[in-house]
Amino acid sequence: MRTTFIAGNWKLNKTRPEAKALVEALKPLVANNAKVEVAVCPPFTALQTVGALVKGTNIRLGAQNCYHEPSGAFTGEVSPAMLKDLGCDYCIVGHSERRQYFGETDEGVNKKAKALLAAGIMPIICVGETLAQREANETEKVVEKQVRGAYAGLTAADALKTVVAYEPVWAIGTGKTATSQQAQDVHQFIRGLLAKLFDQTTADAIRIQYGGSMKPSNAKELLSQPDVDGGLIGGAALKAEDFAGIVNC
Ligand code: PEP
Repeated sequence: MRTTFIAGNWKLNKTRPEAKALVEALKPLVANNAKVEVAVCPPFTALQTVGALVKGTNIRLGAQNCYHEPSGAFTGEVSPAMLKDLGCDYCIVGHSERRQYFGETDEGVNKKAKALLAAGIMPIICVGETLAQREANETEKVVEKQVRGAYAGLTAADALKTVVAYEPVWAIGTGKTATSQQAQDVHQFIRGLLAKLFDQTTADAIRIQYGGSMKPSNAKELLSQPDVDGGLIGGAALKAEDFAGIVNC
């Protein structure tokens, strides 16, 4: 049985007072839901503030990025151990915005995933095709390369401590959502690939989130698909009622 996992990616939003207001509003709205695992991923600058506010609640803390080295002369970077120290249980890696704007590669995603696992943090590994790739019927090829790259050298035991987020790039922040069938098809493909890379039991235990304009009005339909085990939420995570509406749908 895979526990549904809904995570909010706040991206480059929310000062500390704004983050405090959002998480204070969210806490009572999701407090009574014992069936869903919930996490929020604020920017680095608000991790400590939000971490203190969610301590002892059912909301877990995640980061949006990290660097793979543990320490050293890497100006501007943050290590998995630093995130662990702030109370992070999760860290997003390979988000399409990082791939697009910051040159993140499959190899870099793999290094980050390994470093996070070593620090006891679950990587949320993002994969997904662009519109041009979907239209060229390359979705499976693209996603396969990203999944194989991210999981290279990981053992089945490592893989069990990861989450995959399938996020079609054309659906992120655009208001265009994949149909539940489109999402299910790719999720099923990813699970099959994980079974090939590891084994069926491992693949069956790994959560695969959908991300891309998920909102309260479409969450139930997407989450009802057999291989859709949760959501990685961008825009709708910035409003407590909307995020809670997805968690409680
Ligand atoms: C995301 O960036 O991870 C995302 C899914 O964004 P949105 O929900 O805004 O499409």
